[in-house]
Amino acid sequence: MAYDYLAPLRDMRFVIARVLGAPVSWAQCGPLADCDIDTTAAVLEEAARFVREVVLPLNAVGDAEGCTLHGSAVTTPAGFGAAYQAYVEGGWPALPTHPDWGGQGLPLLVDAAVREMLSGCNHAWNMYPDLLHGAYETLKHHGSEELKSRYLADIATGRTLAAMALTEPQAGSDLGALTTKGLPQPDGSLRITGSKIFISAADHDLTEQIVHLVLCRLPDAPPGSKGISLALVPKLLPDGTRNSWTVDSLEHKMGIHASATCALRYEGATGWLIGQPNRGLAAMFLMMNSARLHVGLQGLGHQEIATQNALRQAFERVQFGKPIAEHPAMRHLLLRAQALTEGNRVIAYRAALALDEAEHHADETVRRRQSQLAALLTPLVKAQLTQQAFDTASQALQVFGGSGYTRPCGVEQTLRDCRIAMVYEGTNEIQAIDLLQRKVLADGGAALALLIEEFEAEAAACCAAPSLRDFGEALQAQCAAATQATQRIAAQAKTDAQAPLRAADAYLQAFGHLALAWAWAASARAAQAEAETDPAWAVAKTERMRYGLQWLLPAAAGCWQRATALDAALPALVAPA
Ligand SMILES: Cc1cc2nc3c(=O)[nH]c(=O)nc-3n(C[C@H](O)[C@H](O)[C@H](O)COP(=O)(O)OP(=O)(O)OC[C@H]3O[C@@H](n4cnc5c(N)ncnc54)[C@H](O)[C@@H]3O)c2cc1C
Repeated sequence: MAYDYLAPLRDMRFVIARVLGAPVSWAQCGPLADCDIDTTAAVLEEAARFVREVVLPLNAVGDAEGCTLHGSAVTTPAGFGAAYQAYVEGGWPALPTHPDWGGQGLPLLVDAAVREMLSGCNHAWNMYPDLLHGAYETLKHHGSEELKSRYLADIATGRTLAAMALTEPQAGSDLGALTTKGLPQPDGSLRITGSKIFISAADHDLTEQIVHLVLCRLPDAPPGSKGISLALVPKLLPDGTRNSWTVDSLEHKMGIHASATCALRYEGATGWLIGQPNRGLAAMFLMMNSARLHVGLQGLGHQEIATQNALRQAFERVQFGKPIAEHPAMRHLLLRAQALTEGNRVIAYRAALALDEAEHHADETVRRRQSQLAALLTPLVKAQLTQQAFDTASQALQVFGGSGYTRPCGVEQTLRDCRIAMVYEGTNEIQAIDLLQRKVLADGGAALALLIEEFEAEAAACCAAPSLRDFGEALQAQCAAATQATQRIAAQAKTDAQAPLRAADAYLQAFGHLALAWAWAASARAAQAEAETDPAWAVAKTERMRYGLQWLLPAAAGCWQRATALDAALPALVAPA
């Protein structure tokens, strides 16, 4: 059985239109007002065709071939360049960018669904265009008029690709330790000197021009994260000459072999400041937040492709005289994978819709509210969807038995490829700290209260429908647990600053269960609207959501308990002899 991918168009449409009611929200969002569900569905159908015909066939061959370095120039696997050319000609990079810069101005939510497809079918290929949107947002909001006029239209349309150069050997999670220098020049440019490691797509042969967004330190910058500036460093300078940076090596990695992960040196390279001196991290956060949502969508894409292939296998493979789909243990694995994937799709798309409304909604109060929700949901989407992608891919491999562990099956590549998403763009532990300390506690729980208010409204609507009462009550219980746990952690943090750090991982897992409880409830309620037109589909959807409620949600209790075990000892580790 070939490892295949059929975009889950039915579910995507259901989530966008029925669960989230996105077109109703877009109608209040000036530039997005014309985007109805038929337009959305047409775009997604076309994307599904492109992804399956052009991008998916390069996945396994790209994995086998990998990238190569000749001198300082990176060559991508055969077919990658042509596929990228077709991607640009199809207008796909420009989907969510502004018409002023050559974009199509479609909602980020539509783009999110396309990114989900691209990531599941070929994570490594998608690494090249995946950073474009973050670079576009960063330059649009913080770049000088001169930089914008020189680079922004090409970035917005994908003619130029972008890389994000943060990590250095001594500065990974702790970016405050970075030492790359930016020396101001009389002509207003910066001379950049230093070494970076693990930089995705720093060089390749998909586009002539590549811009690096580089974190560096100006002379006399304060130490730590308050002294970091952001520079744009192009591969080709305005006069067409090659800038002074060199790729020293490519990493040999567990997965995403076809994505060029570069160690590079800036040797007095020419760059220009983006935003204010020493405010680089704040400017870069725009890029990182967009990238974090995209990384969550990478996880979602992997969950989808692993789940649907495992499901196909489960109906084909016969053991003990029946398809393995009929063995209860396998049914559990598959139902779990489906409930998590479909629930996570609702959560990720909700975050994308929040970004659309935060930017475009006519009402300023709504914009502010949605911006808070997007910030709150981003670390959850990044961490939960990537963790569960790895778990789901592993379970999908289990469904394939021994053949799952072999190369031709395809699922082992998904398992290898998806693992990095838990590490880069801020590790999942850093996301957990970001969620609890910066997004929940720092504003005194205000953003969380907004989310709980939305979830409680859903719970009330479910409780009002007798057949959905169990969903409503379970969601109410999760909202209460979240409120209580957060109050306890906030109280403890007043006298014990380390308490949130000890609680963060369990808190993120618990918060993820809360969000899934909402997603399952909202999906089950929305499925009722399809009961007349497609009763079999509506019943099956509701049953899958109820599986999540009955078999997966009970784990939330353990997570809330661990998140609030604030006095439990955390013994020191003993270093090995
Ligand atoms: C394939 C690949 C592609 C990448 N692409 C890019 C890129 O395009 N641009 C770029 O700049 N970087 C990139 N990176 C680098 C990546 O972002 C870093 O690897 C990541 O941020 C972690 O840094 P580190 O590897 O130094 O791990 P460390 O920071 O040393 O962390 C090691 C472990 O300690 C944990 N840890 C560290 N600090 C804390 C803390 N305060 N609390 C709790 N736990 C903590 C981490 O969660 C992790 O589990 C890439 C890496 C890889 C492997």
